[in-house]
Amino acid sequence: MIFTNPAGAPELACDHCGCRWYDRMTNACYECGEAVTPQMEAEFKQALADFAARQNEKGKPA
Ligand SMILES: [Zn+2]
Repeated sequence: MIFTNPAGAPELACDHCGCRWYDRMTNACYECGEAVTPQMEAEFKQALADFAARQNEKGKPA
C-alpha cells in the first residue's frame, strides 16, 4: 500500500502489516518478511512521479 506523509509525499508501506520498514537489501518487510512485489514498486514509482509533477505545478508562477 502507499501512504502519503504530512508533506504530501508518497511512502511505500507493507500490504500485509501496514508498516513502513522495508529492508532495501532484500526488498522485504522488516515486520512480517513479506516481499515488495514489482507491481508495488511500480505503483510507488508512479506515485513519486505524480508527486514530483504536482510539486512542479505548484512551483510555477500563476
Ligand atoms: Zn509487513
